[in-house]
Amino acid sequence: MNIGFIGLGNMGAPMAQNMANNGHTVSGFDIVASCPNELRQAVSITDAASGKDVVFTMLPDGKALREVAPTVLNAVASKTVFVDCSTVDIDSAKQVATAANKQQVEFVDAPVSGGVVGAENGTLTFMVGSSNTAFNQIKPLFDIMGGRAVHCGVAGAGQAAKICNNMILGATMIVSCEAFALADKLGLDRQKMFDVVSTSSGYSWSMNVYCPATGVGPETPADNSYKPGFAADLMLKDLRLAQLAAESARAETPIGKKATQLYQEFVEKELGSGLDFSAIIQKFEQR
Ligand code: NAD
Repeated sequence: MNIGFIGLGNMGAPMAQNMANNGHTVSGFDIVASCPNELRQAVSITDAASGKDVVFTMLPDGKALREVAPTVLNAVASKTVFVDCSTVDIDSAKQVATAANKQQVEFVDAPVSGGVVGAENGTLTFMVGSSNTAFNQIKPLFDIMGGRAVHCGVAGAGQAAKICNNMILGATMIVSCEAFALADKLGLDRQKMFDVVSTSSGYSWSMNVYCPATGVGPETPADNSYKPGFAADLMLKDLRLAQLAAESARAETPIGKKATQLYQEFVEKELGSGLDFSAIIQKFEQR
């Protein structure tokens, strides 16, 4: 396929490269990041989007998506599919979907899980909100960039799945961290706690796969000075999106709310910015 890719940051560049390496023609554009050699360097958003079968965006947030989308929509023909893989608020995804539908362009929200390593290795999970037709059309590209693509429903459903997942992730990371700090104070060896919890009912992805304690469990950012991985700043962003969605849907999410408050303190007041999200263990170790 003839593909445009806008947003060549940590995630976008390797995703675009994987499609180019699998025989697709990919034109890339970013306002800051450089364009990988495998791609054709586009000179503008319009250049990246015009005449393409599919246009991907992988941008920081909903504001960037809302800024970029009108230019993309002006440049594309009605048969083009517009796929946004960024994590954005549900309202921005729906707004862009409505604008796209007005000109018979299919919009797909397809946020991802799996981080930079998943993007590089082509093992991302895509959570997709779109029509069945658009999902089936884009599925072969998701299969190149990822290990799994779940069609969650209509536009916005992908973002809904993403923020629910990451609210669970933030909360389980915090409780795993506070449990390690509690174990320390109770005189329980961290390795012993990991051996028990990782094979008992307290197990989770945060504990078993992404253990926040240094020198315990598999190799994780905790063993590399908490270099991200998945930055605490991005976790805070996703938790805030979950709270926004909860407010507008009138859902009660007390643990999600507390997790947002703890990550906000960690990122904004406790030097957590720029560290991996598992570094929040330091907050409890110091207390
Ligand atoms: P990033 O900041 O590395 O990349 C975003 C890129 O978008 C930047 O290179 C920026 O220059 C570019 N950009 C911004 N505005 C633009 C514009 N108007 N036109 C063209 N380019 C523009 O971020 P990332 O880590 O690649 O994350 C991208 C998205 O994926 C975010 O929404 C993030 O929440 C989500 N995400 C990230 C991870 C992760 O581990 N990094 C994991 C899952 C989801």
